[in-house]
Amino acid sequence: MKIIIAKNAGFCPGVNNAINKVIELSEHSTKKIYTLGQLIHNNDVIKNLEERGIVAVNSISEINDIKTSILVIRAHGIPPELEEKIKESGIEYVDATCPLVKNAHRIIKEYSEKGYTTIILGDKEHAEVIGLKGYAGDNCFVISSVEEAEKLPDIEKANLVSQTTQEEELFERVVNILTPKIKELIISNTICTPTKLRQKETIEFSKIADIVVVIGGKHSANTQRLYQICKDMSKEAVLVENENDITDDLFKDKNTVFITAGASTPAWLISGVEKKIRGIIYKENIFRKFFKFIVASGIFTGFAALGLISVVYKSFKTSPDIKFAISLSLVLMAAHIINRSSEKEANENNFRKTIFLKYNREIRYIAYISIILSILLSLNSGILYTILILLFALPAMVYRKIKKSLKISAIKDIFITLGWVYIICFIPAISLHKLSSPIFYSNILLIFTASLIRNIFIGILQKKNDMIITNEYIYFCLGEKRTFKLLYIILLVLLFISIPYCRYFSIPILFLPVYYFIMIFMMKKGKSPDIILSEFLIELPFFAIILV
Ligand code: SF4
Repeated sequence: MKIIIAKNAGFCPGVNNAINKVIELSEHSTKKIYTLGQLIHNNDVIKNLEERGIVAVNSISEINDIKTSILVIRAHGIPPELEEKIKESGIEYVDATCPLVKNAHRIIKEYSEKGYTTIILGDKEHAEVIGLKGYAGDNCFVISSVEEAEKLPDIEKANLVSQTTQEEELFERVVNILTPKIKELIISNTICTPTKLRQKETIEFSKIADIVVVIGGKHSANTQRLYQICKDMSKEAVLVENENDITDDLFKDKNTVFITAGASTPAWLISGVEKKIRGIIYKENIFRKFFKFIVASGIFTGFAALGLISVVYKSFKTSPDIKFAISLSLVLMAAHIINRSSEKEANENNFRKTIFLKYNREIRYIAYISIILSILLSLNSGILYTILILLFALPAMVYRKIKKSLKISAIKDIFITLGWVYIICFIPAISLHKLSSPIFYSNILLIFTASLIRNIFIGILQKKNDMIITNEYIYFCLGEKRTFKLLYIILLVLLFISIPYCRYFSIPILFLPVYYFIMIFMMKKGKSPDIILSEFLIELPFFAIILV
């Protein structure tokens, strides 16, 4: 059976921007964050935002603590009178209206000021349409069907606009009806480009699929519209909110499945549904499940750390004390696991979420046992090393509790990178009495750059999967373009630093930066594999270096 995943499924840029804005505010501001209406129609994301203390209100009157609150206007936009009211109330507010919706506001305002009647094709009750109407004044009609277009009275001159998520085909049919009816008709097709691309792709693949799976909130207008297109175009279509709605019998006697999703559906929900379907069709074998467990649980990170520790020892032309090296890698692995397992469940990729929900206790035990083992093994080398390891382990264990009070941008990437440098470079250098050696400083640069690349990649992966990342990540703080620029700079530094290491590892060490250049290229092209395999590929060279 063939599975086709829509390229344009998942958060649209407008939704993405609104979510980023509220999260940034909740991280930076001491004020309470409210959104005017639900930010998006997706229960999993709403639940996650609520856990961050972000509350949706239907009206400003529901907010008692005006002085200590920030109100966020969501991507749908609002009518100008309501914006005036918000200003008058004195509450601090942030406008996250999508620029494409704002463009529709501008067009409506421009023509209505010139005396044109505004005709909006959209759902009367939808928040975006209510906002659009506000810019048209009283001289406005809202229609939602061909029949309603036919019933419009005679109008001298009109401006036809559309809700941004409207069906293209319906818009064209309405244009055909209104063109002979209205003497001077301005056709302003304000359906946004992300919606057009989504619909075009949906029509194309719905025609060839035996079944179409549409993922999205049942109350989301754009998901409903997408579902309607699929129903009309395909042999069979189902609307599901998440993987729990998928049943085996849906795929009996089917050859092609097309999976698509509304603009408010995060990629991790799509990936969850895809995995469930793949599981039904292909029945995952035990080795693949084991591989995923090793990577998703963070155990592979321990092996990756061990690889880098061996690099440091080799650079000092000595072999590592195996017990000591294992104790160092165990503490890094434990910190990684604790950090991952305490991330919010709705924020997580489906497979990882499954692992941490199903085995959360067991995985935490692995982390605690790793720390105990690390301490016991380090005692073998002396109490000083146990103390040095604890100096890292203790803050790492409470990181999630203290990070909010630290209020430092990119804190997570910085903390992990410095933690890796401390454990992998600093502690071995002390044990070998090499703190004054120039090699110690070049090791710091090497591990710092390698670890920073790893952490930035992980941030990008999370964001590409529509997980809700915060300003803890460099990617969140810098945005896509600047993050990739930064990655290129770090890779050049890594390439430069790697050259002297050819003495210990011969030429293959230079493949490390080249390998990451290829990964960036694939990521930018959107061709990276699923998040679990991608994480494995990011850490693979660290581990593979042991073999060189
Ligand atoms: S659907 Fe289009 S107009 Fe609406 S928020 Fe998304 S990108 Fe903006």
